[in-house]
Amino acid sequence: MLNQNYEPLNVCNVRRAFVLLDRGKAEIIENGRGYLHTTTALFEIPSVIRLIYLIRRPRPQGRLTRRDVFLRDHFMCQYCGKQTRDLTLDHVLPRHRGGAHTWENVVAACKGCNHRKAGRTPQEAHMLLPKDPFRPTYSFFRSFYPYIESNEGWRKFIPGIEAEFGFA
Ligand SMILES: [Zn+2]
Repeated sequence: MLNQNYEPLNVCNVRRAFVLLDRGKAEIIENGRGYLHTTTALFEIPSVIRLIYLIRRPRPQGRLTRRDVFLRDHFMCQYCGKQTRDLTLDHVLPRHRGGAHTWENVVAACKGCNHRKAGRTPQEAHMLLPKDPFRPTYSFFRSFYPYIESNEGWRKFIPGIEAEFGFA
């Protein structure tokens, strides 16, 4: 779903898209997600819609969530480099030893590595991090990242995404 000024806003489901279109609150920019059959008609399912009115973009949140950490770390275990969706959050300096729950002290770790590291520091466990964890600069478009691999047609609507992901 694009804002009136073509900025991407969010990803909505088909039902919501049809409701917005039906009420005249949005227009179709691109079709291409197949067809919806009803008993009386056949509708093309929109891939990209645009709101008729400009709405205020939600404020950046900058929260520290598991998901945001995994996104920052590109869904890659920071200890062994394995790319997986089956990740855990590891506190680099363990919490019971005073490690903070901050961007600078959490990394994505696969279950194996998290288990192996246990309550130790990377030095003690001989599992050194390739780079220090950092607070990411907030990117509004980050919320679209999980979708862009399988939605090539959306990339041109999301500024900077081609460069970031090397699709260019
Ligand atoms: Zn690992």
